[in-house]
Amino acid sequence: MLDISKIRSDFPILSRQVYGKPLVYLDNAATTQKPKCVVEKIEEMYYTLNANIHRGVHFLSQQATDAHEAARVTIQKYIGAKSSNEIIFTRGTTESINLIASSFCREFCKPGDEIILSTMEHHSNIVPWQLQQEISGIKLQVVPLNDRMELIIDELEKKINSRTKLISIAHVSNALGTINDVNRIIEIAHANNVPVLIDAAQSVQHLPVNVQKMDCDFLVFSGHKAYGPTGMGVLYGKEKWLDKLPPYHGGGEMIASVSFEKTTFNVLPFKFEAGTPDFIGSSALATALDYISDLGLDNIAKYEHELLEYATNQLLTIEGLKIYGTSPQKSSVISFLVNGIHHYDMGMLLDKMGIAVRTGHHCAQPLMEAMHVDGTVRASFAFYNTKEEIDKLVAGINRVVSMF
Ligand code: PLP
Repeated sequence: MLDISKIRSDFPILSRQVYGKPLVYLDNAATTQKPKCVVEKIEEMYYTLNANIHRGVHFLSQQATDAHEAARVTIQKYIGAKSSNEIIFTRGTTESINLIASSFCREFCKPGDEIILSTMEHHSNIVPWQLQQEISGIKLQVVPLNDRMELIIDELEKKINSRTKLISIAHVSNALGTINDVNRIIEIAHANNVPVLIDAAQSVQHLPVNVQKMDCDFLVFSGHKAYGPTGMGVLYGKEKWLDKLPPYHGGGEMIASVSFEKTTFNVLPFKFEAGTPDFIGSSALATALDYISDLGLDNIAKYEHELLEYATNQLLTIEGLKIYGTSPQKSSVISFLVNGIHHYDMGMLLDKMGIAVRTGHHCAQPLMEAMHVDGTVRASFAFYNTKEEIDKLVAGINRVVSMF
């Protein structure tokens, strides 16, 4: 059982007011709020431990290096990776996918080779591959969704052929909340010798994720969506793949030796970490993941599911409200529209009541097109949200409906 009022006291921002009303923050899929321990870790590191890592012989540099590498081990354990060499620090999910798209296509793809995505992908898992279409001549195959906005796995299976080089798929959709059956997808892919990249931007903070059990080849996520700092993300890759991939960015730290005749590259994970990394952000992210682990991902998943069920039932009492994404396997995201009311108007009016939701296409325009809408209103819940806040959302929507 989670002690929600105790948890809320760890997040000072939740007790602030907007427009003179208590903040109801339901935009957690965009970014999560930060517990005190994360902010305090950043402060502590700048005040006591700030020195550039890896290259220094002095005390502070060595301590900062130790903290950065300890954070890598925390992340390794959090996602159940075999080795900390498989954890690459990036700026976020977007950079992690760009890294793989660039390095993977350069090494393994020739014109006509195919990458499989799905209709529900975030633009971050579409556009990097489109950039590679132009560079490497690859083709994209897109798996469609059924009426509940679930990925049609049979269609995915049909799209695999001898030209398929990789499947890159979201674990959880940011716009719908649909949880994809990634275990099944990976099983099918591996039976065909195709590696799989999992976009876990919307899953690692909600569900237990173990990359060895899942057996994915790559997995990516962002720190800021998991109660950690912005500008900090992770790329996990099996060592056998990362070893074969060429570097993405060039610069300091990723090299073994440099001359104008020949430059050689560093070992994993440093080969993919050019330049000074966010060595403060890494410890802050590790602190955030420790905070989640202390609450327990099973407890979080159970409580957030309760919020999802409660909110779904309450929202469906509103006449004319339609929920987009009705899979029984959902995380705590609800996308909806209310008859005739533009999502932007709904979002603006809810905001004036202190309720923060997201409106628009949620960086998933192909999905919106498939649903024949130009956007939705999205309420996304975290473990610090409460049923009382959901009641405020429902009352707020009813008020907007009465205005129209
Ligand atoms: N993938 C998914 C499923 C997301 O929800 C997001 C962000 O909303 C991203 C990728 C991109 O994450 P970031 O902007 O942190 O790089």
